[in-house]
This record gives sequence, C-alpha cells and structure tokens, in this order.
Amino acid sequence: MHVADGQTFRSLSENVGRFNLRGRKFLIPEMNRIGAHLLAGALRSFGIDALVMETYEGLDLGKAFTSGKECFPCQVTTGDILHFIEKEKARLGSRFEPSDYVYFMPESTGPCRFGMYNKYQRIVLDSFPELRTLKIASLTTDNSYSVEGLIERERAGQLRKVAYFSMVIGDVLDRLLWRIRPYEREPGAADRFIEESMRAMAHTFEAWGKRLDFDKILDALESIVRKGRSIIDPAIDQKPLIGIVGEIYLRSHVRSNQDIIRMLEHYGAEVVNASITEWVDFTTYDKVRDARIGLENSLKLFRFDKAKAFLKQLLRYGGDLCYQYLKRDKAYRRVRTIMDVASDHRVSHLDKMLEKSGLYSFSLGTEACLSIAGIMAYVQQGFNGVVNVYPFTCMPSTVTSSIIKPVITGRRIPYLDAPYDGTFQPGRETAIRTFMYQAYQHFERHGRPVHH
Ligand code: SF4
Repeated sequence: MHVADGQTFRSLSENVGRFNLRGRKFLIPEMNRIGAHLLAGALRSFGIDALVMETYEGLDLGKAFTSGKECFPCQVTTGDILHFIEKEKARLGSRFEPSDYVYFMPESTGPCRFGMYNKYQRIVLDSFPELRTLKIASLTTDNSYSVEGLIERERAGQLRKVAYFSMVIGDVLDRLLWRIRPYEREPGAADRFIEESMRAMAHTFEAWGKRLDFDKILDALESIVRKGRSIIDPAIDQKPLIGIVGEIYLRSHVRSNQDIIRMLEHYGAEVVNASITEWVDFTTYDKVRDARIGLENSLKLFRFDKAKAFLKQLLRYGGDLCYQYLKRDKAYRRVRTIMDVASDHRVSHLDKMLEKSGLYSFSLGTEACLSIAGIMAYVQQGFNGVVNVYPFTCMPSTVTSSIIKPVITGRRIPYLDAPYDGTFQPGRETAIRTFMYQAYQHFERHGRPVHH
C-alpha cells in the first residue's frame, strides 16, 4: 500500500475539487440507476462528456484496496472506479490517458465518513503513479452542491437547475416502478418498461436540458406515466404499503442492498423508498437554517457586518430552496393528475415534525434527521411497516434505529433494520418474510393509506 508523503497530502487538495470538465470524460458512479443516467443526460446537454460507470462488478478490487473498516459504499465505489480504469486500459491500450477523465465523488461536511471517501480514493489512485493525473471532481454539501468551477461560470446556475430536475424526474420514475411492479399483468413488464423509459428520458434531458425547457421534459414524463399505468392489472388487490428510509447509497443501490425492494414485493409488499431529492433539499434547507440562526444571533449581538453576510446567504439559499420546491411540486402535480404515484414531502415539514416530537433535532445533523422524521411521516400516513436500510456500522442509521425502534414497536407498527456489508446473511429472507407477515396483520387491522 502507498505510504503517505508530502505529495500525497498536496494531492488531496490539488487533485480533489472542482475542475473544468470541458474536453474530459466525466465518470459518474451509479448509485440510484435512473437518477444517474438522467443526470448524465443533463450534463451531456451542456456539452459535458458524461457517462455512468458500470457498478458492483469491481467489488473484489474495492475490497482489495480497503481495509474492511470503511463504510460499505466506499468499498463499492472504490471498486467501481478501479474496475472502470482496468477495463478502459484494456480497451485503449497505450492510448489510455488518465488525465482525460474526471471521476465524480461528492462529499458531505456533516459529522460522518462520507466527507472522506474522495480523499481515501485519491490516496488509492495515487498509489498507481500513472493515475495521479486522473482528477476527482467533488461537490460538497457545504455550499449545497454548487457546480461552479465545473463549467463556465455563466452556465453553472443553469446546469445546477437542470441537474436538480433530473433527480426529481429520476425519483418520479423510481416511484412509478414501485407503484406498478407489484401489480403488473405480465412478470417483468414493469422492469422492461422503466429501463426503456429511463433511456428515453436521458435523451430528452440531453435534447432539452440546456434550453431549460422543462415543459418538454414534463410532456415526455406524462406520456411515460400514461403508458406505465396500463401495465397494472386492476384485478390484483391492493397490498400492504411499506416505507423505506436509511442511508442514501444503500437504500438506492440495488446491488448493494441485494434488491431489497424486489424481495419485499416478492413477499407481498408495495414499497415507497425515500427520495434522492430529499437529501439535496436537506443540504439546501440546512444552509437556509444556518443562515437564519446566524442572522438572528448576529442581530442580538449588534454584529451588523456579520448579519449582512448571513442575510446574503439566507437570500441565496432561500431562493434555491424555493426554486427546488417549485420545480419538484410541479412535476409531481403533473404526474399525479394521471396516476397516484407517491408524492414527496418537504424537508421543512420533517424539521417541524421532528422538533415537535423531541426525539432528535436538525441541529444534530446527519441523515438521522431525515430517517427519523421520515419514519414518523410514514407512521402518520398509516404505512403498514417501515424498513431502515443501511451499511453495516453506519453511524446515522444506527442512531436512527436506537431512537425510533422503541417508539415504533411500542405503537405495534412492524419495523425492520436491514444492514448490509456485501455478504449474504442467511437469516435475511426469513426476517423479511416475518416482517411481511406482521405487515399483513397490520394491513388487515388498519387498511393502508392512499398515496398522498
Ligand atoms: S452515512 Fe453511514 S455509510 Fe455514509 S459515510 Fe456516514 S457512516 Fe458511512
């Protein structure tokens, strides 16, 4: 393994950050499949040569270059980039030029290890001298994933808007899949249809994204939802509704979570997973919250210079958040006039619920705020059970479990913790069967909610 020296530490600041993507291949790891492909389409519309890397095929490499103590998503994504490079080298031979690529690994400044993945992966890449020129592009929650620096300054705002919208539409297509698959007439029809729709929608983003023509994108979405609706067999009875929360990578990455949604469906569930935009909205909301608190405190102390800076921040991030809510609500409104695809909540609503409950607080940060409040929202809506999906040893998800488990089981609502680390646990399927048995009992006693 590479031994750290001055060059290693310099590389962490020089080769991880925001780099101009023009003329380079931008490598996106596949977390949630649909969202990643739509994001790549959105980026391509701005002339960025973006591609989604194959995922999970390099897990052995990921394990070989980690100690086993890292979070599981770090092992998977390390494997993805190393596998990509291996294949690209084999494809191009001597024409392989590492500086032609920029690998995308965002980070979070919250109190957990996600902020360190890209640093760790930099050290791994630097352990191969020839890969030192392959940059890692990192967006951070610290400025709510600003894309400034990736392309020309005057286009950065537009790119962020389209990238956000691609995540919204990715969420809607995921929700469409979970809504239709448990009720499909013909086995496999929903998966095939969503895969085709994802590719068509990626082209739509590529064609219209740069022009910010969101209506064209919504027109395409509307026709997909209409077709999707026809896959449902109306003769199939409604099923218990299960909500998923947890760590964003594990709950979204189908290979890592061993396709837990499909397994729940196999035992009779209809499932709704927490969205990806929830996390993006959370990072923006958190900046608004910090600015508001900073402004109030500065005014109390008559620090008007600081108050002015906080006010500026409040206006900037407040504007972003309003924009995000507007765009997201518009997309869901349009889709829900055709079909009852599950809607999404506002992060501000989750904050208020959590504050009222006294169980946890947004001031403590991490995904635990979203998961605990998300579970409470599912319970309030009458879901028949909740599953918390996360990487083994994940700190925020373990906090979630320890806080929510006594509350939710006390209310006789089925609850399951589902930690994953890449191994197959023999008891997992039995645990899911038992959970679904309890969910059916809950469903028989209380019915299930309509999609709000
Ligand atoms: S959220 Fe969990 S899995 Fe992700 S970096 Fe933090 S501790 Fe690791």
